[in-house]
Amino acid sequence: MLQEIIDSHCHLDFPKFNRDRQEAIERARHAGVVEIINSGVNQKTNLSTLELANEYGHIHATLGLGPGVATSGSKEEIEGILSQIEQHIEMAISVGEAGLDYYHCRTDSGRARQLVVFKKVIEIAETTDSAIVIHARDAEEEAFKLVQHLDRVVFHCYSGSLETMKIITDAGHYVSLATLVCFSKHHQSLAKYIPSDRLLIETDSPYLSPRKGRNEPALLVDAVTVIAKLRGIKDSEVARMTAENTRQVFGL
Ligand SMILES: [Zn+2]
Repeated sequence: MLQEIIDSHCHLDFPKFNRDRQEAIERARHAGVVEIINSGVNQKTNLSTLELANEYGHIHATLGLGPGVATSGSKEEIEGILSQIEQHIEMAISVGEAGLDYYHCRTDSGRARQLVVFKKVIEIAETTDSAIVIHARDAEEEAFKLVQHLDRVVFHCYSGSLETMKIITDAGHYVSLATLVCFSKHHQSLAKYIPSDRLLIETDSPYLSPRKGRNEPALLVDAVTVIAKLRGIKDSEVARMTAENTRQVFGL
């Protein structure tokens, strides 16, 4: 029997899927991907994410403001996205992705801007009682400190240390492993230790392909197999627990 899996984070609305979006969604369905969570990062992709979720019953939207936009966007642009998130949050299952990316942003002023914007997104999650999808790179601990009081938090494509992962999951938050786990030793070591009731999986398509070329939700099966091997359990068990955790945190 085909196992049912959930891709907890991807960007199917991105131009890389313009050529074959519907086919990719069909391939995912055949691979057992029963739910897909698609995340916006700016004004345009928040809109296209909502459109996609509107079109497909099993695709769910999260509305975000990524750290890249926070660093380089104008004041008007950022204000516009924040009010867009507030206005449309009823049609989405979560706020995010939003957060801190100190890997791509090396300047103090840029990081300070990310911090200001991230705090505003956190405020929206608080006032609307929403889950929040965090993008944190080389800034996992800083991000955690800002969201630790929230109830429903997912660190998407978690790539931080084992120690910080323990702090995050001890606080009752979730970490999502991307298909990176198929080829990254660091992610493979994380995969062994993330508590069963805190683990999510994702492709982050079109990025992070476990094979050649573009990633897509159907390839999530590769991550399931790798994680199952590392944990010494069945593929079906990885599928079951990660789907259950995803449903739990996003209220699907
Ligand atoms: Zn993403």
